[in-house]
Amino acid sequence: MVSSSTFNSHDLAVIGTGGNRPYRPSTTMAKKDYEGNGTCIYCLQGFEKNFLTNEHIIPYALNGELQLLRAVCKTCQKITGIYEQAALNADLLVPRLLLQFKRRDKKKIKLLPRVSLSDTSFKDPINASFDVQLPSDEYAQLISLPLFPRANILNGCRSADSTLTEISYFFSRLGGGPNGKRIPRMTTKHLAKPHAYATTVAKIAYCYAVAEIGTHGFDGKEIRELLLSKRDDCFNFVGNPDREGTNASPSTPLHQLTLSKEHGNVVAKVNLFASACAPTYEVYLGPEKISQSESTEVNPNHIA
Ligand SMILES: [Zn+2]
Repeated sequence: MVSSSTFNSHDLAVIGTGGNRPYRPSTTMAKKDYEGNGTCIYCLQGFEKNFLTNEHIIPYALNGELQLLRAVCKTCQKITGIYEQAALNADLLVPRLLLQFKRRDKKKIKLLPRVSLSDTSFKDPINASFDVQLPSDEYAQLISLPLFPRANILNGCRSADSTLTEISYFFSRLGGGPNGKRIPRMTTKHLAKPHAYATTVAKIAYCYAVAEIGTHGFDGKEIRELLLSKRDDCFNFVGNPDREGTNASPSTPLHQLTLSKEHGNVVAKVNLFASACAPTYEVYLGPEKISQSESTEVNPNHIA
């Protein structure tokens, strides 16, 4: 189910109840660890292994189970953590709480966005008061995920800035409440931080590509600049070629990642919430590098 929205307001009103899905989507995926090579995957500087920390390819807070071991330095971890955390607390907050994902700090109470139970709130969400706080088993069992136009670079053009002209949302009903409670009709809000979200999707794609083919498998200079917040044109890299949902069965894993080579470019497909039939994000990672001997990338941090 896809709905378009104008981009004036970042907060989208969504109406929903329990939904008619016959089963709850899977919230697990297969675990896999990839060994790091003693350099930080973002700044490419060499470090003693003790100075590098593990990098979850898909965030731990999204039940991600793929890890690059000893792969990121503290400086880069801090930079990438800013937009990732912003996305986890905005677009990804409702899915995390409704699907009861793992949390490192369980003592810190995370609340779902307030909802409106008024009948008129969906028709006029701007003037509605969102004043009701509900626990996750009484909240509309519906997740919404932002969809963007196809990545500019994969469309053969680049935008000089980070303007997003169009956004739509994919909705997935999760089925009845986890405790079988009857859920009343309500209007909820989608908390949107589209740039933080898209950059987080780019980070997932990049980490997966590095895990599978290494930093020498493609020229990732541009996407590393994006991930280290040296540029902010995330929609040159990230988009949705197809807004339709994917097929899923009860055994479909929570998230699915694939890597492909298209017209000399390395492209990742990031299907977050694959088990809930969500559409796939496509991420441009950079031109393919043919052989390892050609990788002569200069690390800008080493230039005096
Ligand atoms: Zn680094």
